[in-house]
Amino acid sequence: MRELIAQHCICCGSDHLAKSAAVLMPFVALRVFGHEPVQITAEWGLRDLREGTAYTLCNSLQCQECGALFLDYRFTDGQLAALYHNYRDVHYNAQRIRFEPGYVNVVEHYHQRAAYIAEVEAWLAPRLPQAPAVLDWGGDTGINSVFRDSNSLLHIHDISGVELVAGAERVDLSQIGQQHYDLVTCSQVLEHVSFPAELVERMLPALGPQTLLYLEVPHEALVREHPDSLALAPLKRHWHEHVNFFCEVSMRRMLERLGLEIVDVLRLPVDVGWTRGEVLGVLVRLA
Ligand SMILES: [Zn+2]
Repeated sequence: MRELIAQHCICCGSDHLAKSAAVLMPFVALRVFGHEPVQITAEWGLRDLREGTAYTLCNSLQCQECGALFLDYRFTDGQLAALYHNYRDVHYNAQRIRFEPGYVNVVEHYHQRAAYIAEVEAWLAPRLPQAPAVLDWGGDTGINSVFRDSNSLLHIHDISGVELVAGAERVDLSQIGQQHYDLVTCSQVLEHVSFPAELVERMLPALGPQTLLYLEVPHEALVREHPDSLALAPLKRHWHEHVNFFCEVSMRRMLERLGLEIVDVLRLPVDVGWTRGEVLGVLVRLA
């Protein structure tokens, strides 16, 4: 069931959630809701409100069963499309830099292949054939697809219409169920979406009995710095495009509920323009 303001955990489904007030960052609020920060002044003539800056309010929620930390708003497909419309093109970057001057530094990095991908490949390789058949779900151009240069085929399923790297082939849902894949990957996607369990469920037709599924999310600093803490909601005072902060337990619960078996878990330090810190990779297969 899709709740547009979450009442249940997005990973384990529990309704035992801690809640704390936060703000939605102005760039996201503008793209999703059309809100701009506003000054409430005396001219507004509001007898019972104080003057000052108003931002878009939201809540931080943390599941008290599995530890997942997330924004209460669950954006609709249309709102997410508005948020990511022409992601990282010139207009997008200019609009974002207006609110976040530091985004300039990110822009310089995202068109390069991230160095840590080689380490992910080294971790996965012993479990796979020499040149695996790979499906990258949400892989954009394929620039960061694992085994980009050593596959028997590389399929990419992505909503953007961008041009793909050499050797990659775009596939739609109907093609996915007919192909054998050794490896299905979905990296740096689940932290952006409103209904991550639903997204993983859509990948299941691509899995055969031998197929491995590798799911990678940022292991956010707040989560890392407070291992096993269930008191993170009051520490999370703003939300940006990562609307879900996962920990290992929340990933496990979400995936086990979908009938998947955990094969292994990877924690890898990374330092690239668009993510700095650590990634959490979870390798699963059909149970
Ligand atoms: Zn939970």
